[in-house]
Amino acid sequence: MQLQDLLYSQGFGPRRVCLGLIQQGLVTVSGQPATDPYEDVTPEGLAFTVEGTHWTYHAKAYLLLHKPAGYECSQKPSAWPSIYALLPGPLRQRPVKGGQPGVQAIGRLDQDTTGLLLLSDDGAFIHKMSSPKHHVPRVYQLTTADPVDDRQVQRLLAGVVLDDSPKPVRAAACVATGSHTLDLTLTEGKYHQVKRMLAAVGNRVTALHRARIGQLALPADLAPGEWRWLGEGELAAVQ
Ligand code: URA
Repeated sequence: MQLQDLLYSQGFGPRRVCLGLIQQGLVTVSGQPATDPYEDVTPEGLAFTVEGTHWTYHAKAYLLLHKPAGYECSQKPSAWPSIYALLPGPLRQRPVKGGQPGVQAIGRLDQDTTGLLLLSDDGAFIHKMSSPKHHVPRVYQLTTADPVDDRQVQRLLAGVVLDDSPKPVRAAACVATGSHTLDLTLTEGKYHQVKRMLAAVGNRVTALHRARIGQLALPADLAPGEWRWLGEGELAAVQ
């Protein structure tokens, strides 16, 4: 792959912009200054820098983000900043054949929800992960306004009816972890599902955090607002 095409594929802008970056001496490849935009490079695992920032080539992007409170999972947020503003420009600009450029969040967390959010530019992966038929467990840690009692836990496990469908939705697991805290596992993702389920049993969520998707837990060293690439093992763990 030509170097300028590689930069284009990684979201550094149109080819003429990538050409300019190389010609201006702003790119290094494997630690050496790059001068030839048409140089043939082997993309897999290639380490390069653009304007001093380190990158590794990824054919497709799979990321995890520790979503902070006060951000909307939307490209066009209505009231709060967008989670996409937390990502570097190239990740938002990566060309996607026949689709919107850049990585997209897989499912949405509410503005006030924190925790593990996956993003990707792989259409097939996004489709698979977002499908209602895909029942990967998602673990939420929540705080409630009123004390949680055993009856509420049993009702959440047995299934509650929400206002948009007569079919009950139930928690795959539900454990009270304190007087006002619960770990709740869902294998589907309806709009505001956790908050609506708690409302259906007469309680109210005051704080909500997604701690796990499948076998992947939110890494303890990833601060709110930080993101990182998913490793191969982690990619398998979320599916
Ligand atoms: N359920 C909710 O109610 N809100 C979220 O953000 C995620 C799940």
